[in-house]
Parts: sequence; structure tokens; C-alpha cells
Amino acid sequence: MNQDYIVPSPWSIIEEGFEKDRVKSSESLFSIGNGAMGQRANFEEDYSGKTFQGSYIGGVYYPDKTRVGWWKNGYPEYFAKVLNAPSWIGIKVIINGESLDLNTCTEVKNFRRELNMKEGWLGRSFQATLTNDITVKVEAKRFLSLDLDELGAIKYEVTPLNEDVTISYESYLDSGITNEDTNWDDQFWNTLSVTEDKEKAYIMAHTMKTFFYVCTAMVNKLTVNDRPISLARKTNQSDTYIGHIYETDIKEGETFGIHKFAGYVTSFNHDKDNLLSAADSVLEQAVSAGYEAMLKDQIKAWADIWSMADITIDGDIKAQQGIRFNIMQLNNTYLGKDARLNIGPKGFTGEKYGGSTYWDTEAYCIPFYMATKDQQVARNLLTYRYNQLDKAIENAEKLGFKDGAALYPMVTMNGEECHNEWEITFEEIHRNGAMIFAIYNYVRYTGDYSYIPEKGLEVMIGVARFWKQRATYSEQKGKYVILGVTGPNEYENNVNNNFYTNYLAKWCLEYAAEQAAKVSDESASDYNRITEKTNLQEDEIVTWKEIAENMYFPYSEEKGIYLQQDGFLDKELVTVADLNKTERPINQKWSWDRILRSPYIKQADTLQCFYFFGDRFTKDELSKHYDFYEPFTVHESSLSPCVHSILAADLDKMEQAYTFYLRTSRLDLDDYNKEVHEGLHITSMAGTWMSVVEGFGGMRIENDKLSFSPKMPEAWDGFSFKINFRHQILKVAITKDKFSFSLNEGDDLDILVNGKELTVSSKEAVTV
Ligand code: BGC
Repeated sequence: MNQDYIVPSPWSIIEEGFEKDRVKSSESLFSIGNGAMGQRANFEEDYSGKTFQGSYIGGVYYPDKTRVGWWKNGYPEYFAKVLNAPSWIGIKVIINGESLDLNTCTEVKNFRRELNMKEGWLGRSFQATLTNDITVKVEAKRFLSLDLDELGAIKYEVTPLNEDVTISYESYLDSGITNEDTNWDDQFWNTLSVTEDKEKAYIMAHTMKTFFYVCTAMVNKLTVNDRPISLARKTNQSDTYIGHIYETDIKEGETFGIHKFAGYVTSFNHDKDNLLSAADSVLEQAVSAGYEAMLKDQIKAWADIWSMADITIDGDIKAQQGIRFNIMQLNNTYLGKDARLNIGPKGFTGEKYGGSTYWDTEAYCIPFYMATKDQQVARNLLTYRYNQLDKAIENAEKLGFKDGAALYPMVTMNGEECHNEWEITFEEIHRNGAMIFAIYNYVRYTGDYSYIPEKGLEVMIGVARFWKQRATYSEQKGKYVILGVTGPNEYENNVNNNFYTNYLAKWCLEYAAEQAAKVSDESASDYNRITEKTNLQEDEIVTWKEIAENMYFPYSEEKGIYLQQDGFLDKELVTVADLNKTERPINQKWSWDRILRSPYIKQADTLQCFYFFGDRFTKDELSKHYDFYEPFTVHESSLSPCVHSILAADLDKMEQAYTFYLRTSRLDLDDYNKEVHEGLHITSMAGTWMSVVEGFGGMRIENDKLSFSPKMPEAWDGFSFKINFRHQILKVAITKDKFSFSLNEGDDLDILVNGKELTVSSKEAVTV
């Protein structure tokens, strides 16, 4: 049974009623972020029950020394961890001497939590009775400002309901925090100073080893019945903590409020010697605007995001809520302003996966950012990898490759490999191909070819050199083979000739050769610069082509399908449907040994190839491969259902497409994988977007044109989305009996709908 306490609502995630065993799940689900930092939905007031505290700053990490059973040469020295940063949200609430703590209250009524996705804020309200029999009503709202992205704002209000009381707020900053995920229980932060200046307080700290300097700062304003008041302040201070205490008597029915403005300025963006003054200036901006004006700006900034990124789904509220949740959380994680940042699989909602960058970005996230934002955003994501090319070359050298071969890491913060399981670090090399696929995808979609001569070709050369050295010639087969790999299906390790990897390698070699020729023809000065820098020789390109032409692919004549890897058909081919439900998820129930021998597939592997290169296979081929592989797929990676939803829609298997859609879009809301308390699956959320636009919308690029073949799940009355295609905004609206396309402005746009040419103009919508 999946969890189902989230109240269906088109624009909000809502929880009603307080249950202690839901606290950690909700802390993930109601997370907020602004692309620069993120905050789990931890309570502002003290909570003595089970909680997972998390506040994260983009780009700030700690290199945690690797811990493994048996060291293998080539392992990375450390795993880069996203850090739980000093706490900025805390407000201790003391009522007549007793701490407000939902874990110890004798009664909690009318508890309601709302993540308002439209306006970008998190709200919470409840009525609680303390053990001293005082009942209070609490309302709290907070957001991480999109405009001032170093800042969060909180409005917290307490109203006593059954007697006059004394309330004290201790609003605090705390750098005495820990990570749940640490290899050696290291101290991750070193606090340098705890200071105050009138109403403002600051904690200066730096991360150990990486020396990111962070100033956490706050200022508080008080109100009674919404009118500003001033109160004398006391300070509670230690080496890693500062609290500002405000106490007053409040009559029954009156409301005591605090507006807290707090956040981080870091040496990532400022000179480390100026952090205090930078923090001071950010707090000043907040105080002079005030909470309500900041909230208005927040609503406006989110309206701008939604005006481009929203997807509407009519007639299916859970599907609607699901897609908006995915879109909001993607925007919470990454807004594309900074090419040094990327999209961690858990975003700013948990520690798992270290907050690092995976192939998820190139394979799953780029289409969403490309279509819902300015194309510069996708370019920034590509540039992130370009900037790490030297590190990818070093990474390959560590493993014995040479002459400028580049192996991009499976997991990284700064370009260095962080993953230390051999079957992934050394073997899951298909990730290298995703880097090139993303460049191809970007150019194909945006038409911005300039990226290739400027940056892309260098990356292609490094990656092609890697494939050239990694493929070996089999005398027996008379073909090139790639041995000892892990494909996207991590439930198989050290296999030979994984079809997806071999296909991608072949494609990369061909594409690199083709692009080298194109740049040489069309942009001689760039070509000279690049060949000089990389020392590229013409005969290298000849070898790339030779290997590509003679790449080996395991194939079954009998079944008419490519095999996931050599020997796949030797397995005991019992489908997932014939597995006892109690044995699933197999990654929690079975030994690793049993998983490796089984035919079960964690996520799209051979089918990932059909997703990437759909235009190179016939429908019949897709159908055969889908029908063969899907029944063995357990979808135990969050990245799996979206690709299957898209392929199922392509094959008109609408029921399956819809089931997979719900699974991807509500993966966290309904906690399909029973792990939402650890954080959200951010990168697969971009896959959810793809499953609407590419799956049900059937959007593809064909010969430089947008093409659509819309299909709708039975349960829906209609759906619509917008995409930014080459600086034009196209709106697509699908109902049961018509498809409509409109442009907001600009030149006419030729598109294909179910194979037929159509011209969309900005004057009126075209309906088919
Ligand atoms: C998947 C990988 C993915 C990683 C991070 C794993 O479970 O198998 O493909 O890169 O999660 O999302």
C-alpha cells in the first residue's frame, strides 16, 4: 500500500492532522528552495520527536574520506557530501515557562500544512494544548526568496486561546549541527565567530577541508495583532549558537508575531573577508522591504516561473497535483543562473546521493530546463561539464587511460569522481555517452550550433578517445567489444557488451567524427584552436570511425531483439508478474548475489537506447524490445517509470503509459519506494515532465522541426503545456477531440502534427 495522506489539490500539497510517524516524510515533501539553497520542512519551534533536520546551500560540500571494505586502486579518495548547513529557521517558543513542542503537547488539533506551489511558500497552522493546559493557536509561513536568493523569511504567530500568558520567542542561529550521513563522524563545520550588532546576529563558519566560508545571519521584527512593536532583547550565546529572546505578556485572543529574516552569504559568491557586510546588506534589504512586500515579490516571481513551466491536466486532480509538485521541486533545486551549480538527485531535500551531479542531469533534466526556461540555462548545464573536462581527463588517467581520454565521473561535486563502488566507478561508463547525447540534444532542440565549436567538440574529443581506448578488438568475433561494464541496469555488474553502452559508444565515436569534420569545414579558426589544444590527429578520427563501424551488438535471431548483454538469454526468464509480491522491492529483500543472477532489470537499459535514439529504430523494433524487456523490469530506480511511460505512449499502450505516469509523478507524494523521508527524487521529476510532453504530447524534433503526436490517458479530459522553442513560446492544448497550438508572438512556426505539416502563427491558435 502506498502512502496516501496528501490531500489532492491542484495547486497545493496539503497535510491535515498531526501524526508523529509522518513527520520525516512531510519534512521531505514540504521542502522549499530557491535554486541557491533549500530547506526541509522542519518545524521552527523545538520538536523532540523523530526528525531529519536539513538546510542546504548550493555548491557547498564536504569531501568525506572514503570508507570501503577492501580498497581497490583507482577508488576516489573521498565522497563529496552535501552538508546540513547552520540552522536559520529556529524559533523556540516558551509559553508560561513551558516549551511548545508538538511531541509533548497533550493535544494537537486542526494541524494543517500547505506547500503552496503557485505562490512558493510553506504554511503550517495548528492548535496545541501544552502540559500546563494552555491552548494556543499557531500560524507559521515561510519561503526562500527567489529575488533575494540568500534569504528566507518566516512569519510565526502565536495566539493564546484559553488564558492570558507570557510568551517568549528565542529566534536563533545554530552552527552546532551534524550530518546524518557521515563516514567517520567528522566535524564538518568549524565556527569562527558568533556576533551580534544591534538587532542582527551572525555566525561565521567554514567547512572543514573545502573551506567554504558561510555567514549565517538573522534579524527579527515583532508584532502584536499584526502591528509592529519593540521589545527589549536578551541574548543567549555559545560558541556555535546565538539566540535573540523577546518576551511579552499576551492577552487571551491576541496574537504575538515574529518576522524572521535569515539566510546565508557564502564565499562561493562573495569575498570571504566581506561576508559580514554582505550579510548585513542582505538583511537590510529584507527589513526595508518587510515581510509582506517580500511575500508579494515571491508570488510574482513564482507566477513568472509558472507562466512558462505550468502543465495543466483536466479531470484528474491527482495527476495535476503530481506534475505541479514535480515542476515546483525542480525549480526549487535549480534555476540555471549559475553554471557552477547542478541538479543533485535529491536536490536540497536530503543528504542521500551527496547532493552531487549524476548522469541524471544530461539524460533526464536537460529537456525540462531547455523547454521551460531560456536556452542559456541548458547551456549552463552543458558548460558545467565543459568546465570539468580537465578533471574528467585526470579521472581517466587515474584509471590508466591516456592521451586526453576523458571519463566523466558517475558522481561529482567539482569534476572529481566520488563514487566508490567499483562496479559503478569503474564500470558504469555509459555516463560518458550521456554527456555527448546532451550536447546533441541541446543543439537539435535549440538550433544553437555555436556551442559545439565553442565548447562541445573538446568534450566530444575527450570522450571519443576514451571509447577508442576502452573498446577492444575481439579476434573471435571480428568486432570491437566493450568488456566488464555496468549498464544503466545496476542489477547486473561486470557484464560484456551491454547493448546500450556499445550503442552509445558507437554513436559517440561517429558523432564526434562528424562534428570534427563540420567544425573544420565551417569554423576553421575554432578547429585550429581545438586541434592545437587537444592535439587531435586526423588518423585518430579514422580509427574512431573504424571502431564505430565494427562495434559488436549482442543479438538474438530467434527473438529478433538486441540482448541487454552477452548471455542474457541464459538466465531463468521468470517475469516480474510471476514474482511473489512479498519479495519486492528485490533490492530490499534479496541478496545481491541473487539479484545479479536474476533477469530483473532495475531501470530502462536496452530501452534507454530506444528512448534516446527512437528515430533510428522502427516501431516494430521498439514494440518487440519493449514487450521483451518491460516484463523483467522492477522499476526500482526512480528514473525508470518515466522512460517506460514515454515508450508505452509511443506504442499506444495507454493504460501502461498512464500507470507509469502516476508512478513517476506521484513517486514521492505517494511514497512508492518507501523512502521519501530521506528526501525527494528530484532528477526523476524532470522525467515526469518528459512523460507528459514527450509521452502524451508525443513531442519530438524531426529535421529541425517540432513534431507532435498527442495521445491522452482515458482518465483525463485535457492537458496543456508550453515550450520555449528557439525563442518562441508555443502553447499546446490537447482535449479529447482536438489539439490546439498557439504562439505568443514572433514569426510563424512550422510544426508537424501526426506527420502533417502545419503553420502556427501568433495571430490565432491552430486547431486540428
Ligand atoms: C540509478 C542511477 C542514478 C542514481 C541517481 C540510481 O539508483 O540507478 O541511474 O544515476 O540512482 O539518481
